[in-house]
Amino acid sequence: MTAAVTLDRVSCIFGSAGHEVRAVDGVDLTIEAGEFFTLLGPSGSGKTTCLRMIGGFTLPTAGRVLIGGQDVTMQPPYARPVNTVFQDYALFPHMSIRDNVAYALMVRKVDKAERARRADELLALVELAGVGDRRPAQLSGGQRQRVALARALISQPQVLLLDEPLGALDLKLREQMQSELKALQRRLGITFLFITHDQHEALSMSDRIGVFNKGRLEQVGTPQQVYNAPATRFVANFVGAANVLDGDAAMRLTGRSSAMLRPERIRLGAADGARAIGAVREVQYFGAFTRLKVDVAGALLQADLPEAPDTRWPAPGEAVQLHWDAGAVHALDVEPVA
Ligand code: ATP
Repeated sequence: MTAAVTLDRVSCIFGSAGHEVRAVDGVDLTIEAGEFFTLLGPSGSGKTTCLRMIGGFTLPTAGRVLIGGQDVTMQPPYARPVNTVFQDYALFPHMSIRDNVAYALMVRKVDKAERARRADELLALVELAGVGDRRPAQLSGGQRQRVALARALISQPQVLLLDEPLGALDLKLREQMQSELKALQRRLGITFLFITHDQHEALSMSDRIGVFNKGRLEQVGTPQQVYNAPATRFVANFVGAANVLDGDAAMRLTGRSSAMLRPERIRLGAADGARAIGAVREVQYFGAFTRLKVDVAGALLQADLPEAPDTRWPAPGEAVQLHWDAGAVHALDVEPVA
């Protein structure tokens, strides 16, 4: 099957000699048709630049961009079979919702009745039937975001690019939109390329995730692969909470020179068979779990213990025995060859 998007050794360097910013640095990536693919990374890691090169808004300094197998590297945005939803929606305030959604068809001189029909169809798809005559200011933030989505979908793109589209929404609405967006993508079967710096969002929505750091892709994998088997220490630390151990402590506790142990894989128990004994430094109650920070001969281990109503959590200063299964240790001493 032809890939939806292929990046072939793509780089984008801003600035002039001596003051170069390698925003994207030799990235190879293949996104399959129908995938919900997320680029995840901290601010400034190159996600937006990558997306802009796929959309045609920024030209690569080197490499090729292919969409549906066609080399589009030098094509302008309007000639590419993609569309973009930006965080700030950019709806036209003076136009009705229906005209906003139908804008791309108006530019293409599709007749008015057909435009209205298609716009209403898409408004129904994003569960906004009946608001076509309103103006953007008369809708809530979440509704405006759905209008932006409908507007981007009306030109039937092969790939929809979404640049932190939920960033401006409050947490509850954001979570609701996350499942709506995922359901919509499944229904339509269109390839979604989604950008976020929020690991929870990436883990819960994506078929696969590409983790960006300093212009490079450090790992591409399913949410479970990225979480359970991070390829690098950056990925281990950026996706989820992690105990990353090095040197003596790592060797003593895990038998590796460098390893990761997720806090929820640690349990408390009797001394028999304990992997480590330490003194509690801090106890934080989070509701669903309680986080202990335990000093194990100089290494601070974090343990997230599930909530159980009548448990008496140890107090700071108390000695505790820590347990984990051998399979919970993920070696980080074998860094992948770049
Ligand atoms: P954010 O989540 O904050 O948008 P990002 O991961 O999307 O971050 P980019 O916006 O792609 O990161 O930026 C990557 C690097 O390139 C940053 O150091 C940024 O300052 C730089 N950069 C981006 N656009 C330009 C530009 N037009 N001119 C110069 N430098 C740029």
